[in-house]
Amino acid sequence: MTDAGLMTGQEGQMIDDAGLWCEVGPAVSPRRAALFLDRDGVIVTDTHYLCRVEDMRVIAGAAAAIARCKALQIPVVVVTNQAGIGRGYYDWSAFHAVQDALKAALAVEGAHLDGVLACAYHAEGRAPLRVGNHPWRKPNPGMIVEAARRMQLDLPRSWIVGDRSHDLAAGAAARLTGGTLIEGDAQERQAAAKLASARFIVDTASDLSAAVAALLDRRQFEDRGRF
Ligand SMILES: [Mg+2]
Repeated sequence: MTDAGLMTGQEGQMIDDAGLWCEVGPAVSPRRAALFLDRDGVIVTDTHYLCRVEDMRVIAGAAAAIARCKALQIPVVVVTNQAGIGRGYYDWSAFHAVQDALKAALAVEGAHLDGVLACAYHAEGRAPLRVGNHPWRKPNPGMIVEAARRMQLDLPRSWIVGDRSHDLAAGAAARLTGGTLIEGDAQERQAAAKLASARFIVDTASDLSAAVAALLDRRQFEDRGRF
């Protein structure tokens, strides 16, 4: 049985093809502004190719930050590159197990992810996952655009938080309002700063908790056009 076969048919989660995971929950109200999140280094500690449940550590404050969004009915969507699958270091089953553990850990604090999209394609992957510059792989915007299509999200009012400039680049390419870089090193901060433009705001924050607090303080996700 292929990995795709293993996952097919489970409600709400699926592998669209060998290298793409797309899991969206029940439809949220249409035209909502969403918060897109990178996973590793933002929600969980980046252990480089996280693939074992026992290595999964939710970063302090991340679950509470996601719960704050849930309380305000702001959809939270994870978009994660999974080159480790492409390279053959682990498979979708391992990814699935880590995601289940993450969901359980978030649920303890009342937090929930409305969508999870992952891309395993990589230029140095193993066939059939050896694909360079796949439209879903960040810095390309494919995962964000696909989530918006399936969940009817309002991308121009949405935001992304990541710990690499390529997370923010994907957000800029998807024409989000802006992005927050978490704990970037100097090189990442420089690369992220170059993405700032009249059309894309670039922020920095120490962690997801601080990033969400700043976004909610300035009412980023409220539809001010309605009033
Ligand atoms: Mg990351």
